Amino acid sequence: MTETIVITDPDSDRYHTFGYISWWQQEVVRNATVLVIGAGALGNEVIKNLALMGIGNILIADFDTIEDSNLSRSILFRTSDRGRRKVDAAAAAVKKINPDVKVKAWHGDINFEMGLGVFRHVDAIVGCLDNREARLSINRFSWAVNRPWVDGAIQELMGIVRVFRPGDGACYECTLTDQDYQIINLRYSCPLLARQDILQGKVPTTPTSASIVAAFQTQEALKLIHGMEVQPGKALMINGLTNDIYTTEYPVKEFCMSHSTLDPIVELPEASADKTTLAELLAVARERLGPEAVLEFDSELVVSMVCGSCGNVEPMFQRMARLYEEAAVCPHCGTKREMQMTHRIDGTEDFLDRTLAQVDVPPLGIIRARNGSERLYFELTGDEATFLQFA
Ligand SMILES: [Zn+2]
Ligand SMILES: [Zn+2]
Repeated sequence: MTETIVITDPDSDRYHTFGYISWWQQEVVRNATVLVIGAGALGNEVIKNLALMGIGNILIADFDTIEDSNLSRSILFRTSDRGRRKVDAAAAAVKKINPDVKVKAWHGDINFEMGLGVFRHVDAIVGCLDNREARLSINRFSWAVNRPWVDGAIQELMGIVRVFRPGDGACYECTLTDQDYQIINLRYSCPLLARQDILQGKVPTTPTSASIVAAFQTQEALKLIHGMEVQPGKALMINGLTNDIYTTEYPVKEFCMSHSTLDPIVELPEASADKTTLAELLAVARERLGPEAVLEFDSELVVSMVCGSCGNVEPMFQRMARLYEEAAVCPHCGTKREMQMTHRIDGTEDFLDRTLAQVDVPPLGIIRARNGSERLYFELTGDEATFLQFA
């Protein structure tokens, strides 16, 4: 195949020099959608690079706000941004760097709050995180919907860059050691997860290691967008103290928990978290799988909190993983309450007229429908136009 090199006017085209790169297709870059998870030191650099290159749509996900200690490693933030949500400051900075680029800022917790379908509708995912839990979540989500992702990690002057692609080499979870699992399990051992404590891992980083690793991450994302060769399951190890750079390959774990892909995923263009009720989705499931079909959530839905001491019952309709520890305490008498929960909807519930959003399903969520061993995965595709709206 011959590549056409389009040379434009350097005075009027900011992408002029990219035109000299034989494989670079600005049209492909312009049409691409990249999800950047984490707007810290790495995220800032990745987002900056994507903006400079003219990536069409950038979805920035983070749950944090800006504090002074971020300012030494974050090119997109200014002193006046203190207290602002990282995603908002980053999105505003993108528009200043390159007004061609469309952005969407999403403030939330990637572990529990983003619809799985979002991952399906992006071209590349770049993980800019500092903790194992979120990496593990992204890894499982990517596998579930069969999407590649690029991981970056930094500590002092060290860095690691890795591309993971479902079914092609080791995944992130394949690389985890028993010690890694111990650390993760320790944090998840409390049934009402104290999420506040999870993401506080303070790893010493520098703006230089962040820009080095983020530059490699962005390049890998660029290759993925262009359909070029990458090296999934291998790590690029960068040692800034000794200036050693080498790659190493991870073995694939035979019984890795992440190796599971949802199949088949059925897009429901009419369904959305806001409008579709449980009864309506159950009806679709029964139309396709028969009258015995049920809906299943992959995590427990806390329907209500029941106080054994004063008898107070409080409706919750939140997934257990999203509840803070305070929710366990009865607001009336201060006793620890019992959770009433379910993960299956079989049509006998008294809350079937609730919308999916009202049972804590996010936009573009994916819900399993099952009848015996037959299963389907419904995506709330009707949310695509509103959720994936870039400005
Ligand atoms: Zn694996
Ligand atoms: Zn009580």
